[in-house]
Amino acid sequence: MAGEPHRIVVVGAGFGGLEAIHHLKGAPVEITLVDRRNHHIFQPLLYQVATASLSTSEIAWPIRHLMRGRPEVTTLLGEVTGIDASARQVLLKDGARLAYDTLILATGARHAYFGHDEWEPHAPGLKAIEDATTIRRRILLAFEKAERETDPEVQDALLTFVIVGAGPTGVELAGTIAELARDTLAPDFRRIDTHKARVVLVEAGPRVLAGYPDDLSDYTKQSLESLGVEVVLGAAVTECTADGVVYGGKLLPARTIVWAAGVRASPAAEWLGVPADRNGRIIVEPNLTVPGHPEIFAIGDTISLAGPNGKPVPGIAPAAKQAGVYVARVIRARLADAPAPPPFHYKHQGSLAQIGKKRAVIDFGWIKLRGALAWWIWGIAHIYFLISVRSRLSVALSWLWIHTRNQRSARLITQGGDEDDSHAQKV
Ligand SMILES: Cc1cc2nc3c(=O)[nH]c(=O)nc-3n(C[C@H](O)[C@H](O)[C@H](O)COP(=O)(O)OP(=O)(O)OC[C@H]3O[C@@H](n4cnc5c(N)ncnc54)[C@H](O)[C@@H]3O)c2cc1C
Repeated sequence: MAGEPHRIVVVGAGFGGLEAIHHLKGAPVEITLVDRRNHHIFQPLLYQVATASLSTSEIAWPIRHLMRGRPEVTTLLGEVTGIDASARQVLLKDGARLAYDTLILATGARHAYFGHDEWEPHAPGLKAIEDATTIRRRILLAFEKAERETDPEVQDALLTFVIVGAGPTGVELAGTIAELARDTLAPDFRRIDTHKARVVLVEAGPRVLAGYPDDLSDYTKQSLESLGVEVVLGAAVTECTADGVVYGGKLLPARTIVWAAGVRASPAAEWLGVPADRNGRIIVEPNLTVPGHPEIFAIGDTISLAGPNGKPVPGIAPAAKQAGVYVARVIRARLADAPAPPPFHYKHQGSLAQIGKKRAVIDFGWIKLRGALAWWIWGIAHIYFLISVRSRLSVALSWLWIHTRNQRSARLITQGGDEDDSHAQKV
C-alpha cells in the first residue's frame, strides 16, 4: 500500500544476511530478521572452540544485541520451513507466517555425509556452536577416559583422533588437536603420555588444501607431519562407526572422529522448487535473484553462481558479505526507481588457513605466503573481522596465553557428565 515502508524479510543472520542489513541502513524499509539461533557465529574460528582454545562467547554474539541500534529491524527467533512465494510469505516451523515485499535468503550450508547421514552421530561436523562444544567434549573426554583405561587396545582407540577431509577446516583441526595433545595436555596427565595421541587426517583427494597452489599444499602437509599428524591421502572413507573409521578396506579404531569433508546447502531451493546444483545450492540469476522470483534474493553458501574465470563463487565469508552488499544496492536502486546495478561481480581477496602455532598459508593470488609471517597476517585478519572490541581483546589475550604458556582456558567438558554421546542421534 502506498506510503507504507517496504517490508524486507531476511532469513539467516550469518555473514551474508547481516551484511545486507548493514548496507540497508537508512533505506525506507522495515526489516524482519529471522534466524533459528539467537546468535551470529564467526565460523572461521569455530574450530578453536572445538579444540578448547577459545570459549563460545568469544566467537558468537546475540543477534538481537547486534541489531540494537537499528529500530527498523525486528529480530525473530524461529526456524523457517518453507516459502509461499505466491502469497509472498515465509513459513515458520511453529505455523507462523511472515509477509514480505522482498525476501533475502541467507541460510548458509551444513556438513553433508555423501548420502551416509547415519555416520553423523559418530563423526560430527563443525558448523554450529553446539557442534563445536560436542567435538570439544569428545576430544577432552577421550583423554580423560584414556587416563583411566587399563586395556591398551581401548586406550589406543581413545587416543586416536581422526579428521575426515583435508580442506582448511580439517587442516586447522588436525594441527590444533596435535598441539593440544603435545603442548597443552602433556603436563596435566599422569598415567598416559599425551604425546602418543595419534591425529590422523584422511583425505580422498591427492593433496591437502586442494584449492591452494601445490607448493602451499606441500608445505601444509609437511608442517602437519612435523606436528605429528599422520596425513593419509587418496583414501576415501567408506564407514564411520562407534568403533572407528574404515578407509582402504581397513578399520582404524578411533573413538573420536570429526567430519570436515562435505557441505550441503540449506533447503532453500526445495522451499521454492527452483533449480539447484548437486550440493543443493540455488542456481541464482546474475543479480542474485531466484529464477522466476525477482523479489527473492539468495546469497552466501546457499547459492551457486559462476565467478571470475567461470569458477564457482566459493563458499567463504567474503563471498557471502559481498553478495549481501550487492543485494542491498539492488534493493536501494529499485526503491529509488534508479537503474539496476550491473550483475554481481565477486572479487576474491585471498585464501588463508592456519596449520598450527606460527604456521599458516596464504594465497593472495599475486603473492603466496607461508610460515610465521602468514600466521601473523592470518591472526591479525581474524581479530580484525571479529565483531566487538571485547571479542578482539579477549581472543588476542587467549592466543597470547596459548602461545606463551600453552594454556587453553576453554578445556571444559560440558553437556552431560562423562557419558559417551557418540550414539546420540543428533548432535
Ligand atoms: C568450520 C568452518 C570454518 C570456516 N572457515 C572459514 C574461513 O576461514 N574463511 C572464510 O572466509 N570462510 C570460512 N568458512 C565459511 C564461511 O563461514 C561461510 O562461507 C559463511 O558463513 C557463509 O555465510 P552465509 O551468510 O551464507 O551463511 P551462515 O554464515 O552459515 O549463516 C546462515 C544463517 O542462517 C541461519 N539459518 C539456516 N537455516 C535456517 C532456517 N531454516 N531458519 C532460520 N534460520 C536459518 C543459521 O542459523 C545461520 O545463522 C568456514 C565455515 C565453517 C563451517
